[in-house]
Amino acid sequence: MDVSNLAFFIAIAVLCLPCTVFTEANFKVPREIASKFSRDPQILSLASTDYGHIVHETPSQVFEPSSVSDISSLIKFSNSLPTPFTIATRGKAHSILGQAQARRNGVVLNMTNLKGSLVSVSNCSGKSLNCYADVGGEVLWIDVLHATLERGLTPLSWTDYLYLSVGGTLSNAGISGQAFRFGPQISNVLQLDVVTGKGELVSCSRDKNSELFYGVLGGLGQFGVITRARIPLGPAPTRASIFMWNILQVKWLHLLYNNFNAFSRDQEHLISFSENKNTTAADYVEGMLLFNQPPLDLSFYPDSDHQRITSLVTQNGIIYIIELVKYYDSNSQVAKDVADLVKGLNFVPTFIFEKDASYEEFLNRVYAEELFLRSKGLWEVPHPWLNIWIPRSRISDFNEGVFNNIILKQNISSGISLIYPLNRNKWDDKMSPVTPEEDVFYAVSLLRATSSIDMVKKYESQNQQILEFCKGAGIKITEYLTGNKTQKQWMEHFGSKWKLFADRKAQFDPKRILSPGQGIFQ
Ligand code: FAD
Repeated sequence: MDVSNLAFFIAIAVLCLPCTVFTEANFKVPREIASKFSRDPQILSLASTDYGHIVHETPSQVFEPSSVSDISSLIKFSNSLPTPFTIATRGKAHSILGQAQARRNGVVLNMTNLKGSLVSVSNCSGKSLNCYADVGGEVLWIDVLHATLERGLTPLSWTDYLYLSVGGTLSNAGISGQAFRFGPQISNVLQLDVVTGKGELVSCSRDKNSELFYGVLGGLGQFGVITRARIPLGPAPTRASIFMWNILQVKWLHLLYNNFNAFSRDQEHLISFSENKNTTAADYVEGMLLFNQPPLDLSFYPDSDHQRITSLVTQNGIIYIIELVKYYDSNSQVAKDVADLVKGLNFVPTFIFEKDASYEEFLNRVYAEELFLRSKGLWEVPHPWLNIWIPRSRISDFNEGVFNNIILKQNISSGISLIYPLNRNKWDDKMSPVTPEEDVFYAVSLLRATSSIDMVKKYESQNQQILEFCKGAGIKITEYLTGNKTQKQWMEHFGSKWKLFADRKAQFDPKRILSPGQGIFQ
């Protein structure tokens, strides 16, 4: 064979390596999982996108496990090859930058149909403190809510949107307006079952295999696949009943501010009750902004108030809104609790609005928006979001530099903008996420949707401008749900935690097989 022929055969062999990886003849795919791989164009196409609709990577194959042992076999199979293939665990793919996608001929591990362990609630009395649910990593939080409410119980910490998988949110952090009081979802886990990057199924907790436990929580899918999580439960608002889903149990308030300092001071005051077992503590505290930019979403407020709210926004440019919730069992008690909570707060006089909802209606509030946006064709569109955490000491500078001087001044719709403080003592620093190093930090989410490629570019450039402003002003922010980074940027992101993160990778996924879409180790 002459040299050019040899080069040709080597080239073919190299090019075909990824495509032949899974053929039984060449690499002995374990018989029990051979039928779980799919190259169906529709399935591949679905696995090559996510909620963000910005990054698109077509995997070589999609793997549909029927059991935890299938997952273990898949990962062991990859480990056994001279060139292992990467595996992207895909929960509900509500990532925004390809985090659950497989790059360069990897495999997407689709958890959706696993239905291994679902939700099993412990045998305990509703008032006892030892109730928990064992939940499959693939299960959606909405299903956890339904299964636990049937027993008069509920998880304590949520995300705003419930059609996310348990494994997906626990791989990030999982925050919402309850986190100031109970911590993020990752602080509300008792045990995990994890199939590591070596394919071993390991149970872990704070006391057992703790390095894996702490690594996986907020670990961006780098160390293993979460197949079960044990979630502590508390009593649901006691007016809950399986026969009366819609009974009113939640007092839901909006307080409007035209002064940022008063707004943030009051938010911090409200979250300072978290250590206090006193029932007057709020059950949920978030915040949002209304910019004097169309469209103005006033759907929470009575029609009769739209005019005066619009005037307030027009006069001030930006209005800040505290969103406050108190769960209740009795009407008279909640009236007193709410009066106590808002006493002394400095919102614009008379700009306080409240409504009642069922516990489920409140927790599942974003679903109503999803249905509305789907009906307008505005759900399956690009989402150039920015999620960041900001230390309390610089939040006022952030307001001035970003909300007033960047977003308000640019002629593009601000989308939905959330801002709320969190207590750092509710986070466990042994876990993977990095947070700003102050007792209180703010979560800011700029949530945009657009069907125009031009607008995606404008939002991306605005996001970049915001990050650069923070860097220039010395505001040490942390990005959340971030992606598209070089390894150097990831090292900066993790800072002093990088070594721990990399050591855990070497220990639990030494061949760097898992979650390539995060772009950390590939
Ligand atoms: P995927 O996108 O499928 O996966 C995310 C990452 O986790 C990937 O790296 C994936 O490989 C890995 N992964 C997935 N499943 C597992 C598993 N079982 N084991 C190990 N790794 C796994 N976040 C908040 O904190 N608070 C919010 O209020 C909030 N609201 C949101 C609202 C909307 C409309 C959307 C789209 C997202 C929201 N998020 C929120 C972000 C959300 O928590 C994350 O995007 C989360 O990853 C989504 O879960 P998923 O199942 O879609 O994960």
